[in-house]
Amino acid sequence: MNRKKRILTGDRPTGCLHLGHYVGSLENRVKLQEEYDTFILIADVQALTDHFEHPEILLNNIREVVRDYLSVGLNPDKCTIFVQSMIPEIAELAIYYLNLVTVARLQRNPTVKDEMKQKGFEANLPAGFLVYPVHQAADITAFQADLVPVGKDQLPMIEQTNEIVRRFNGLYQNVLTEPAGLVGTVSRLPGTDGQGKMSKSIGNAIYLSDDAKTVEKKVMGMYTDPTRLRATDPGHVEGNPVFTYHDAFNPNKAEVAEFKMRYQQGKVGDVEVKRSLIGALNTFLEPIRARRAPFADDDKKIDEILIAGTARARKVAQETLAEVRTAMKIQYPFSL
Ligand code: ATP
Ligand code: MG
Repeated sequence: MNRKKRILTGDRPTGCLHLGHYVGSLENRVKLQEEYDTFILIADVQALTDHFEHPEILLNNIREVVRDYLSVGLNPDKCTIFVQSMIPEIAELAIYYLNLVTVARLQRNPTVKDEMKQKGFEANLPAGFLVYPVHQAADITAFQADLVPVGKDQLPMIEQTNEIVRRFNGLYQNVLTEPAGLVGTVSRLPGTDGQGKMSKSIGNAIYLSDDAKTVEKKVMGMYTDPTRLRATDPGHVEGNPVFTYHDAFNPNKAEVAEFKMRYQQGKVGDVEVKRSLIGALNTFLEPIRARRAPFADDDKKIDEILIAGTARARKVAQETLAEVRTAMKIQYPFSL
């Protein structure tokens, strides 16, 4: 088929986007939005798999995520931004794919396993949560995506998608595209608590929309090297999130190298390293804040972007669904 290659990726509207999203996925989306026909999904259905008791949080978060997209330079004239629940074709695809996966395989998915633990779902697992990888396979294949820019935590989902694609194509007809994952400059940015990945649901994130004072407060409170009691003790750089952030966001590589050396020798305190990081982060975030400002109170503009994007996305998903139904021989001669 002679069409532009496609990207499908997205985010759950469970909060605002953070530095981990930037280095994990957003940066690549911005870079590739000219070269690829880019579809960006706001995964509200997936957000419900662990936020079903509070669906009222979604509307505001959907709009905030769109503001985050605009603030990092995603251009709605070049990429299609849309709402997952408004594309019923995705849900229909997911239902068909569920027959191609076993419960045991879903339970072995390492991301599902990690998140089950994190969310306390081990004793009482909602079925909707267990099958969310199948829903993601439907997201990706509805757009016949070639490339999926994601953080490392999502790579098992792409593997699972490819298994479903191969099973479908082998069983019915070769209509679905196998996607490749693309991780960003930092595949898994740790949180400010140093415990795991930066996540909107854990309260360990620095948001793209945080103001300079908030960034300062969060960095000053950051976890560093728990084995180091005094600034004169030799410290660890590996696994120390302050240095991971320096590597990711401080363009002054010579300064970072010098800090690391002095830290390991016990010749610099946490405060000096953190002060410099605050400067680097605020310099990085300043243009992002400036691009966000004109849309800060403009829900109308945000909603227009979503309407146009969702209408376009729906047409593409409808085309795929028609091909899928034909391949499965359930495109009946009678129709409504
Ligand atoms: P939640 O806690 O609600 O799951 P989240 O912070 O994990 O939120 P998602 O919406 O689940 O964010 O993830 C959106 C995309 O951003 C995914 O591709 C994911 O891999 C990527 N991503 C999220 N957090 C990080 C991180 N800390 N480092 C790199 N990539 C990340
Ligand atoms: Mg997540």
